[in-house]
Amino acid sequence: MFNYIIVGSGFAGSVIAERIANVLNKKVLVIEKRSHIGGNCYDYRNKDGIIIHKYGPHLFHTNYKEVFDYLSNFTDWRIYYHKVLAFIDGKKVPIPFNFNSMDILFPEILSKKLQEKLLKKYPYGAKVPILKLKKENDKDLKFLADFVYEKIFKNYTIKQWGKRPEEIDSEVTARVPVCIGRDDRYFDDKYQALPEEGYTKIFERMLSHPNIKLMLNTDFKEIMKVDLKGKKIYFLGQEFKGKVIFTGMIDELFAYKFGMLPYRSLDLHLEVIEKEYFQEVAVVNYPNDYDFTRITEFKHIHPIKTNRTVILKEYPKDYDPERDIPYYPFFDKAAREVYAKYQELAERFDHLILVGRLAEYRYYDMDDVIKRSLEVFEERIR
Ligand code: UDP
Repeated sequence: MFNYIIVGSGFAGSVIAERIANVLNKKVLVIEKRSHIGGNCYDYRNKDGIIIHKYGPHLFHTNYKEVFDYLSNFTDWRIYYHKVLAFIDGKKVPIPFNFNSMDILFPEILSKKLQEKLLKKYPYGAKVPILKLKKENDKDLKFLADFVYEKIFKNYTIKQWGKRPEEIDSEVTARVPVCIGRDDRYFDDKYQALPEEGYTKIFERMLSHPNIKLMLNTDFKEIMKVDLKGKKIYFLGQEFKGKVIFTGMIDELFAYKFGMLPYRSLDLHLEVIEKEYFQEVAVVNYPNDYDFTRITEFKHIHPIKTNRTVILKEYPKDYDPERDIPYYPFFDKAAREVYAKYQELAERFDHLILVGRLAEYRYYDMDDVIKRSLEVFEERIR
């Protein structure tokens, strides 16, 4: 019999399953609703051998040495610095917006003047969230802030979230600051690298252990029942006394008792193009043109020599539980209050642990989820 049941085989579920199997040498059942492991990090090779991130681009980056070291047990790495361009007024400029972007978009004299003014205020290399830059009083910096806000952030955010930047949590737009300098890299983390053979291989190596039993194509509701009154979880009709680690949507776990939490979803359109390359870098953002937010070209992420290339367009939309995959929790004040109720309910279950983007309703990056899962294992499972 199992001591542990894990719902979901994304990073949260897979890391904890691997730790239980290897460190504790205990048996664990992993239940996965989809026909594959890895959650939204799942990738595969198409017939040309191009690695495709099925659920959109995943670029690993972290400052947590422990996370990088841990993942290194399951993969070799290829150094990769993610670069993004944004299509603005017919030109492609580096994002995060920086001095190079200014040089492309503004006349030389203006660009120089703005850079000098910025350097009087901020140290070289500083990262300034757009909503902070918008508070500048100096008229030139105000011009710059308004320009960047209008051309880079406003319409992209409306497409992505259905709201304006100032209507959503300020942390969200702060993920992509304005950079005081000429570093074109999207991330500034200490460790930036991609798994040599893609992400799915990492999950396969984590989960292939005699202590781990994996059930694909299985919705937790088919085999588990949550007794909201008695605060118990039943597995195949019997009360389950071991620990349940749930990494799915917290509102679904509790049968939407306090209502549905809002999520944003995506329609993803994959296209095969009959030429060697489609665009200059892995990701090009389209804040103001078209209905999609960005185009990813996978050959830049996992280089391979082929005559064809594959691109992915992302069309954001509200999440519909009947049809869609929840990609992003959308947390405004009201959503946070609903989440707090679910969280409080979860705490009243003795052996239930919630981990991950959906279960904790947080905009976690991959490294955040892995760090959190390792901590949860040490603190609540080990
Ligand atoms: N953002 C924007 N314009 C851009 C890039 C990002 O307005 O060109 C904002 C937008 O609100 C987005 C957020 O910054 O949702 C975070 O962007 P990130 O690239 O981190 O999003 P993810 O890759 O997680 O979808």
